[in-house]
Amino acid sequence: MTHEKLLDAYANLTVHSGLNIQHGQQLLISAPLDAVPLVRRITEHAYKAGASLVTTIYADDVTSLARYNFAPDDAFDTAPAWLFNGMAEAFKGGAARLAIAGEDPSLLAGQDPQKLSRANKARSLAYRPALELITGFAINWCVIAAATPAWAKSVFPGLPEAEAVAKLWDAIFACTRADLPDPVKAWEEHSANLARRTAFLNERRYRALKYSGPGTDLMLGLAEDHVWKGGAGRARNGVICNANIPTEEVFTAPHKDMVDGTVCSSKPLSYQGSLIDGIKVRFERGKIVEMTAAKGEDAFRSLISTDEGAARLGEVALVPHSSPISKSGIIFNNTLFDENAASHIAVGQSYTENIRDASKRSKEELSALGANSSLVHVDWMIGSGELDVEGIHADGSAELLMRKGEWAV
Ligand code: ZN
Ligand code: ZN
Repeated sequence: MTHEKLLDAYANLTVHSGLNIQHGQQLLISAPLDAVPLVRRITEHAYKAGASLVTTIYADDVTSLARYNFAPDDAFDTAPAWLFNGMAEAFKGGAARLAIAGEDPSLLAGQDPQKLSRANKARSLAYRPALELITGFAINWCVIAAATPAWAKSVFPGLPEAEAVAKLWDAIFACTRADLPDPVKAWEEHSANLARRTAFLNERRYRALKYSGPGTDLMLGLAEDHVWKGGAGRARNGVICNANIPTEEVFTAPHKDMVDGTVCSSKPLSYQGSLIDGIKVRFERGKIVEMTAAKGEDAFRSLISTDEGAARLGEVALVPHSSPISKSGIIFNNTLFDENAASHIAVGQSYTENIRDASKRSKEELSALGANSSLVHVDWMIGSGELDVEGIHADGSAELLMRKGEWAV
């Protein structure tokens, strides 16, 4: 298939399996400038599917960087609250949300950590009203990615730019199943498999998960009334969508006060323009009390110091080591892909969909069950072909869930 055909299949997949755009629904897209050809195709498919209005907000790495190079020092506590409030307003009015990732993973490497942490904090605070509607699954939303020159060069540093971009696109099409004869049907089948997995885990009602592997010895308590989710889900507006394309994970809410032991990362994490690698942390009663990182330690420290909840967990996800993304052997330096190559955990905000009847419970009740609250939600990868995971029942008995990174049940 030609690149044009694949791009079109990917756009169609995004609109139908990813977002499931409804007749009369608005769509709000954010995208890197280099993704214009993809955005044009998505927009076309969205209108054909009945969208009433598609609005795209483009971001450009060069102008983002200009702020760090030229803006006055007192500028870094500023964030576009007006824009984020407008997004929240759009979601309340029923608009769907598509985020297209593709930024340069190390755009802000080497920038003043103080400026980065102030800018990130201001942004997180201003974004909160919109993020709450997304994490609360108020509307159908989806995150996908577009190969951009800067991102492609970071994944394939040895290749000329055009070759790197073409190779990254091929990897994206393969990992998202967009290169199969009927991608929409392939996603229905994939989603059904993930649903069988979550049904099994939900029936088990484990009290905790126990992780063992090189550098990892972790007892991770699960929130009371936790619910495992994976694949397609029904948003509160009734629309069934796939929030991530690709997705290979089943995930739930950890108990924010019941995580103990040590765990180390198995893949690099790209966070707000910094590449963080070789993370090793120790938890005590849910909180990170010690941390080191081989690379980007300042960025990780700043992340977990954002607020009280940023040093506690909001998500735990299981992904088999043999996932298509893992099998590609590529380290994408992008969470959307890397998190689906490996089991992971996330510091920060938990998803309300991971607690039973969350919409009927107060914030205090959710917190008492173990749900975490924070301005941030950042996944990082801990899974590998050497990690064993056991499910711990309420009576303390253990059941092997994953052996050397693969499902054992
Ligand atoms: Zn996840
Ligand atoms: Zn996550």
